[in-house]
Amino acid sequence: MASPLSMQLSVFKYLLTQKLKGNERYPLVMMLEPLFACNLECGGCGKIQYPTDILKKRMTPQECWDAAEECGAPLVSIAGGEPFAHPQIAEIVEGLVARGKYIYFCTNAILLERNIHKLKPSSQLIFSIHLDGLEKTHDNAVCRDGVFQTAVSAIRKAKELGFNVMTNTTIFNGKNSDEFRRFFDGAMELGVDGMMISPGYAYEKAPQQQLFLQREDTKKWFAATLKDWRTKGWDFNHSPFYLDFLEGKRNYDCTPWGNPLRNVFGWQKPCYLMDDAGYAKSYQELLDSTDWANYGQKSGNPKCVNCMTHCGYEPSAVNEAFSSFGKFVELVKDIASVSKWRGRQGEPIIPVEFPISKPAKREPVAS
Ligand code: SF4
Ligand code: SF4
Repeated sequence: MASPLSMQLSVFKYLLTQKLKGNERYPLVMMLEPLFACNLECGGCGKIQYPTDILKKRMTPQECWDAAEECGAPLVSIAGGEPFAHPQIAEIVEGLVARGKYIYFCTNAILLERNIHKLKPSSQLIFSIHLDGLEKTHDNAVCRDGVFQTAVSAIRKAKELGFNVMTNTTIFNGKNSDEFRRFFDGAMELGVDGMMISPGYAYEKAPQQQLFLQREDTKKWFAATLKDWRTKGWDFNHSPFYLDFLEGKRNYDCTPWGNPLRNVFGWQKPCYLMDDAGYAKSYQELLDSTDWANYGQKSGNPKCVNCMTHCGYEPSAVNEAFSSFGKFVELVKDIASVSKWRGRQGEPIIPVEFPISKPAKREPVAS
């Protein structure tokens, strides 16, 4: 909803083509992890616990481009690890843009300001900045003080330079609903082009297992926090159907092939979140060799029963919207009903929750 118009049109055309071809399983967003190394060690992260020899691995630009072309998804989400720690990340992005891909560049923003000159503003490039709440909450989530201030400063800088910028927020257990309502107000006033949210996935490798929400708690939390998001005018970069799903108003099973993951090992089976079935050499092999009946909420797989993440269920919501003309009209009407953001009534334009009161801390990680 919040993404550039050219991107929305491209995705619309792609989805229509898949439907007309009668394709049941197709990719929507290719997740790309060109490295696992990161300059943070967040308590809820399940991506950085590899031995040093694996953390040193980097996908080559050619591997990234070949994977994107073979997969065919119109959107590529570059994550990791921290993409800015990859020495060839600008070349990778440039090559994906040249191949017509729209890119979410997921970053914790620590290295963004010093590296931003390597990238060009484009309607095909969106920075997706990791922000898991207001200052104290975010710094606790990433286990380091000062990161919130650095991220907010980087968002301002990227906006000034003409880049598209969104926030990317993971919701963990015990988070205060009112605080996150203030957070969404603050992000809107900061002028971001959209906000992404998802409950966290209970990675077995994550050091802080108490952080993860159970399914019913997820629904309660989102129902309370998002109860009036349409009238508030919060600009979420999600299908409203997916937000309904998070609030417990719609029920889907997972579509793990919709957001497939390519990383330094290959194509992860079955999904972005777990590697239970190993790796495939190509997206086609992933489709053909995965026993999909073993995954998703309905399968009863204990690793899936509490999962409501965007990478498993946003493609399911998109599928519903494109399942019939009536459903598509329902989606369009829903999007049209979302109010325009008008700021917080009677409150200052610069949000009090997002001050830059001190210089942003610089980290010693080089790239
Ligand atoms: S910034 Fe992202 S990749 Fe890095 S440790 Fe945190 S969650 Fe993991
Ligand atoms: S429900 Fe889907 S996205 Fe979630 S862990 Fe299972 S297969 Fe992966």
